Amino acid sequence: MESQLNLFTQKENEKNVIARSEATKQSPDVTRNKIASSALSESPRNDSETIKYKSLSEAKAAAMKCTNCELCKGRTNVVFSDGIETAKIMIIGEGPGENEDLQGLPFVGRAGQLLDKIFTSVNLNRKEHLYICNIVKCRPPDNRAPLPEEADACRDYLEAQIQYVNPKIIILAGATAVKGILKMREVKITKMRGQWIDGTGSLLEGRKLMPIFHPSYLLRHEWNKAPDSPKGLMWKDIQEIKRVFDNL
Ligand code: SF4
Repeated sequence: MESQLNLFTQKENEKNVIARSEATKQSPDVTRNKIASSALSESPRNDSETIKYKSLSEAKAAAMKCTNCELCKGRTNVVFSDGIETAKIMIIGEGPGENEDLQGLPFVGRAGQLLDKIFTSVNLNRKEHLYICNIVKCRPPDNRAPLPEEADACRDYLEAQIQYVNPKIIILAGATAVKGILKMREVKITKMRGQWIDGTGSLLEGRKLMPIFHPSYLLRHEWNKAPDSPKGLMWKDIQEIKRVFDNL
């Protein structure tokens, strides 16, 4: 357990990501800049030794009856994932909301419908191309962001999902997902969105990560259609994601 928590050592990861982010932020269009992250693993490891579960189905079965954190008390359903288990693109959000908790599926409320619309606009969908999950699998009360200790308690499941789905691209939807994966305390999603992050460390090695706006943030700015509005920037980011996906 200790070795797995060490994968997410905060200070080093924050230092690395911020330093590289600072180095790239002069560019007006950062979508193609690359910054390296060792966030999930700052030291080499053998995943087969440290991933707690032997398969995705084993991780899912454990999550379904998990009581590792307080969030288990308020849930209707454990929300493990949606999409295909061979997806090249994994989308990670923060945690289930009310609709997700009721249906047992991630991103199925208004924000989820918008997420589907965004990906469908470039011919990507959850039945053929995407695997969708969250930092925590149970609904936080009042839709608050998950606490760091809740994210830590749920991390074995997320690690298993990354290991066994083995996506080439990981999309981090919103600041909480960025914090959870890159282990940063402060995240300015407006600065980080659209930037490719080359994953390093054994779990993320060879994967490309991109933070994007959370679709619920886009819903709050729906009225603004300018090219530099959240919606306009999301349009730019999804095209960049599709470009890289097409070249995998
Ligand atoms: S959020 Fe994760 S760690 Fe907490 S009870 Fe649910 S499955 Fe377990």
